[in-house]
Amino acid sequence: MRRVRVRFAPSPTGPLHMGGVRTALYNYLFARQAGGDFIIRIEDTDSNRYVPGAEEYIFDALEWCGIKADEGVREGGPHGPYRQSERREIYLEYALRLVESGNAYYAFDTPEELDRLRHETEQRGDTFAYNYKVRGSLATSLALPADEVEKRIERGDQWVIRFMMPENEEVHMHDLIRGDVTINTSTLDDKVLYKSADQLPTYHLANIVDDHLMEISHVIRGEEWLPSLPLHYLLYRAFGWTDTQPEFAHLPLLLKPTGQGKLSKRDGDKLGFPVFPLQWTSPDGEVSHGYREDGYFPEAFINMLALLGWNPGTEQEIFSMEELIAQFSLDRVSKSGARFNPDKARWFNAQYMHVRDNDALADAYMPLLREHGIDIPHEKAARIAGYIKGRATFVSDFWELSYFLFKAPVTFDQKVVDKYWKNDNPEHIAGLRDVLAGIDDFSNANTETICHAWIEEHGYKMGQIMNAFRLAIVGESKGFSMYEMCEVLGKEETLRRLDYALANIPRA
Ligand code: GLU
Repeated sequence: MRRVRVRFAPSPTGPLHMGGVRTALYNYLFARQAGGDFIIRIEDTDSNRYVPGAEEYIFDALEWCGIKADEGVREGGPHGPYRQSERREIYLEYALRLVESGNAYYAFDTPEELDRLRHETEQRGDTFAYNYKVRGSLATSLALPADEVEKRIERGDQWVIRFMMPENEEVHMHDLIRGDVTINTSTLDDKVLYKSADQLPTYHLANIVDDHLMEISHVIRGEEWLPSLPLHYLLYRAFGWTDTQPEFAHLPLLLKPTGQGKLSKRDGDKLGFPVFPLQWTSPDGEVSHGYREDGYFPEAFINMLALLGWNPGTEQEIFSMEELIAQFSLDRVSKSGARFNPDKARWFNAQYMHVRDNDALADAYMPLLREHGIDIPHEKAARIAGYIKGRATFVSDFWELSYFLFKAPVTFDQKVVDKYWKNDNPEHIAGLRDVLAGIDDFSNANTETICHAWIEEHGYKMGQIMNAFRLAIVGESKGFSMYEMCEVLGKEETLRRLDYALANIPRA
């Protein structure tokens, strides 16, 4: 069996979209499961589309997600360099090989000539395609005499090398997700493979040459590359590499929450969810939301992404990276687009929040408190985090879930007063205050046992007492377990708040 080697091959044209992260993730899972290699290759041969900072962003994003490469720009490896702009001298030789074997040809058309051709064809109600119909009559090495071709190259005319797409041939392809696909080559044009102007290959040539040289066994990439597959098949054949050509799997699109169309950055802006893993500031200063900065845990983000297009065939929804590695399979990747649901993304984060380590949560909670001028010991922050995380989705929810611990009520919510500060309730709270005053061990389990026994002993209504108790301590009907709150407040503050409430809440 051939060694599994897969690659994620982003172009640094902007921040990595969450769809790109999913492609990287599936490649990573596939490689890890097979005990193979996961490679990151930067495809930066299109200098017009290069965006400064995008490459760093891609690496940082994958690192945050816990997707580690075995070989790549940062990792190095035996097939480097892994940045195509550093491999530029490799590609010309391969382009020339194709010219020599009759699979490609030189074309000397200037951009102006091509524009004119396009325009003329359009005027006839047609669309211009550079293909078998026209290549024999344009300024190409197929039409011009050999010495003329040589002369033009020698005097420095600009040229490109184009693939000579066969005429009227059925190309039979296989995709691991979509099955068999057949296309007739007459519908395809003669793609540019190499340009003398910048001495760089185009995506198609560089991609095939590198996948071959890097011994890639499987190409797992987005569906948008499916139309390029026939050309890629034919390039492998033209090079004589069909025997070792990789297998292909084209992943379904990520769709908008409505299910209509591809998930875009604009959808995120409109509906208030991130489409990028990390916050991104574009070269012109525009800031886009990131999952990290919006408070998502990388594990939750990855779990959510894994299930956008793949299903395990069971009811299980929560997967660690290890579980994903064990269970992932291309067979269970769907052919149709995967609809993104922002509520589900938040749900995933909440699931991870509920079981998150309290100390780790305290690390994120303390700066939030400091923004409100509150400094508490780490141990206390961790304890509170443990009590409130079950109600939170993000750490940013923690303030709303706990501010009343740091700010004693001055006034009291009238609606709650009307409902619970009536009948004998104020007297009962006064009684409860005395019970609490007699307790030294203020741990929530202890106060709960003692207070509940007292409530039962007197035959009071639990709900009435607890609601009045909450009103007195919090000022409104918010908060978590009364005993946990009392534990955090401590005996002195608990009694102080009760005394204030008893003195200041007018009976309803
Ligand atoms: N550079 C291409 C991209 O940006 C890679 C496509 C492929 O994986 O072949 O998506």
